[in-house]
Amino acid sequence: MNTPHNHDSCIESALATAERLCKSQNQKLTKVRRRALELIWQSHRPLGAYQLLAKLAEEGFNSAPPTVYRALDFLMSAGLIHKVESMNAYLGCAHADKIHKGYFLICDQCHNVMEFDYQDIHNALIEKAAAQGFSLRAETIELTGLCENCQDEKQPQEMES
Ligand SMILES: [Zn+2]
Ligand SMILES: [Zn+2]
Ligand SMILES: [Zn+2]
Repeated sequence: MNTPHNHDSCIESALATAERLCKSQNQKLTKVRRRALELIWQSHRPLGAYQLLAKLAEEGFNSAPPTVYRALDFLMSAGLIHKVESMNAYLGCAHADKIHKGYFLICDQCHNVMEFDYQDIHNALIEKAAAQGFSLRAETIELTGLCENCQDEKQPQEMES
């Protein structure tokens, strides 16, 4: 996230959305699924499966890899998290109730990841692929650079005075 914000409310609203979505799809947000989601939402930096595994183990969950991967699969198929392929890690989605692809802006410095609006690019990709007779299965769009905060930090201090 760019601006300083109350991250507790990010977590709260993510969990509330998860409860609501699971209920409406007749799915169970089991303890391990809920805790995994909460741990992934600890920040806007994606969390790797092994880090997640270690944290769940610390807390006494059944942290056998299959359990954790099943929880991750569930959260992904429910649209509650995305996998950031280039980081091999998982990110909580703030728009889980809208169907969308995850297109990401990844900050090289703080490793925060933001999603950006995908629809126009998505449409263009489908069109370009179709023009080649290609049927699109997956799209990975992960842009790297510096987030607003990290750019600010690089600026000389004279701005302040
Ligand atoms: Zn936040
Ligand atoms: Zn998303
Ligand atoms: Zn940054």
